Amino acid sequence: MIPYGHQNISADDIKAVVDVLQSDFLTQGPMVPAFETKIAKYCSAQHAVAVNSATSALHIACLALELAAGDWLWTSPISFVASANCGLYCGANIDFVDIDSTTYNMCPQALEEKLKKAEEHGELPKIVIPVHFSGQSCDMRAIHALSKRYGFSIIEDASHAIGSSYLDKKIGSCEYSDITVFSFHPVKIITTGEGGMLTTNDDNLAYRLKLYRSHGISREFFTQKSDNDGAWYYEQSILGYNYRLTDIQSALGISQMERIDEFVSARATLSQIYNESLSALPIITPCENEHVKSSWHLYVIQINFSKTKVSRANIYKKMQASGIGVNVHYIPIHLQPYYRKLGFKPGDFPQAEEYYSRTLTLPLYPDLTQQRYIIETLAEGLK
Ligand SMILES: *Cc1c(COP(=O)(O)O)cnc(C)c1O
Repeated sequence: MIPYGHQNISADDIKAVVDVLQSDFLTQGPMVPAFETKIAKYCSAQHAVAVNSATSALHIACLALELAAGDWLWTSPISFVASANCGLYCGANIDFVDIDSTTYNMCPQALEEKLKKAEEHGELPKIVIPVHFSGQSCDMRAIHALSKRYGFSIIEDASHAIGSSYLDKKIGSCEYSDITVFSFHPVKIITTGEGGMLTTNDDNLAYRLKLYRSHGISREFFTQKSDNDGAWYYEQSILGYNYRLTDIQSALGISQMERIDEFVSARATLSQIYNESLSALPIITPCENEHVKSSWHLYVIQINFSKTKVSRANIYKKMQASGIGVNVHYIPIHLQPYYRKLGFKPGDFPQAEEYYSRTLTLPLYPDLTQQRYIIETLAEGLK
């Protein structure tokens, strides 16, 4: 089976991990801060904080921004459930902003209209989480301008978008946000097995994120209370978690970062081949907006049902039967049973639902070699 995404592991990656296994520290040694420094530099951010997943990163980003019961968090319905679940972990209320039908990202106009209405009801969001879907940056200038007017914080869910750029700056620079979150799950751009990272330019947020990832305790920040205290002394000041990344994982991440630009350019080249080869088929290929350079985490097509009678389910089945692991990203979050129980229903976010009814993800990863076969099988399936 050709998967829809796959990691690329080199001999150097393996050596980096084995070196840590043969060293004194498997976790919380020198590799974690070295990985953080590497990501902070790459993104031109002041701080980077490593954690064990993007889900953990989203959770502590919300906590650091003081999201609590009674507050509202808004995100995109076309994302992985973690983009919304993080708000529920904090006891907050969740709502969604419909997507733009060409980028599949949170629509800034829809956001503005929703903010106007929310202001009338006194229910403005505390946090908005734009998701850079498939690696394409959201319209961050517009969302940032709205944050200034309506007073909300911004967490960029850049789980798809390490290596992407917006207005000539790397995603993660936090030029237009408070915090950016990355995922290092194996299907993403670089991997640490499981893992995540937060970037921020705010010293106080970075301090709080570090506390939250490790039980609310930090030796780094400890203050000796009396002459009878020694280096053993630590203090728990807030209720934190164990969301730490290991040195084993960080070594893999550092080694993977050596090839990030190669990975992104291989993905861009393969996407370009898809764009050109699929242009005559009854589908809509993905766009890349002005000011954006995508990491091409996902290659998503939209089936044009005005030009083909074949159903999405049928194409999906035919491709799978031919050994091609096509996928669907994503079932709109508000249609998940858990979210329906919170009161969401079909029709709430029409653009997201329309997108979902037509979308299919084709395999894309740096080592993909069977692209001809995928294109031919898809063309055949759409007949
Ligand atoms: C993968 C993903 C996550 C969760 O990442 P983990 O590292 O697996 O926790 C969150 N948001 C989006 C958009 C994702 O694609």
